[in-house]
Amino acid sequence: MSTYKELLQTAREFLKKSGIADADIDAWYLLAHVFGINRADFFMHENKKVSEDKALEYKKLIEKRASHVPLQYLTGVQEFMGLEFEVDENVLIPRQDTELLVEEVLKVSKDKAVLDMCTGSGCIIISLAKLGNIKEAVGIDISREALKVAKRNAYRLGAEVDFIYSDLFDNVEGVFDIIVSNPPYIKTEEILSLMPEVKDHEPKLALDAGASGLVYYKRIIDEVNRFLNSGGYLFFEIGYDQGGAVSKMLEEQGFIDINVKKDLSGLDRVVYGKRPF
Ligand code: GLN
Repeated sequence: MSTYKELLQTAREFLKKSGIADADIDAWYLLAHVFGINRADFFMHENKKVSEDKALEYKKLIEKRASHVPLQYLTGVQEFMGLEFEVDENVLIPRQDTELLVEEVLKVSKDKAVLDMCTGSGCIIISLAKLGNIKEAVGIDISREALKVAKRNAYRLGAEVDFIYSDLFDNVEGVFDIIVSNPPYIKTEEILSLMPEVKDHEPKLALDAGASGLVYYKRIIDEVNRFLNSGGYLFFEIGYDQGGAVSKMLEEQGFIDINVKKDLSGLDRVVYGKRPF
């Protein structure tokens, strides 16, 4: 029988040898996850012998992590905007960068009807429903599996959101004050150069945006006028080099007050514009 300390040490070394960047952190988080312990528990009981069953469960997760399955698919959760979201391999893992998108929408969302296109785990629209005093919240996705995750998240977090299965606007009814989207935006050829965690484990459907990386922005902007009130806002998350192209598309569609916002790393991350009255 091994102790917590021995298990953790072996796992750290194994993950390091397997080329996992945050080996120490990940070994710790998986230990905390499997044994339900926090840092204090660990230091008080580091020499405690643990059950063989649990030790095996831990070792299996460490092996998966060593094969580059993202940590969050193993623990099943990711924090976003201070809320805990359930995730699985059917949804993109919520990114800290995307918090900027939510923060920008929160500045204008009070009492507004908000539609989230390509909702995935639901992290954006659920955060807005919980934190934004919004009037109406709708999230759409083309993946039924993702919608199941989003619905579970809304239920767990006590957020009132309608989730609709839809290929972009196909099944959307009504008109909104704010439309927000973090659509797929990676160029097909660039997917191969992403980390194995992303390219081999996160859903391609949530990443791949054709040869230009811009197809979803274009499709949304082309159709948005029918679904967005005059004076309403369209918000996008974008890749660091897409600010110019997406701003131009918004301008061509008649949007005004177009703005590009930078994330905490100083990279362009959010673009928004207003539909004139
Ligand atoms: N809207 C979800 C998120 O921000 C999913 C995005 C996506 O699948 N491209 O995490």
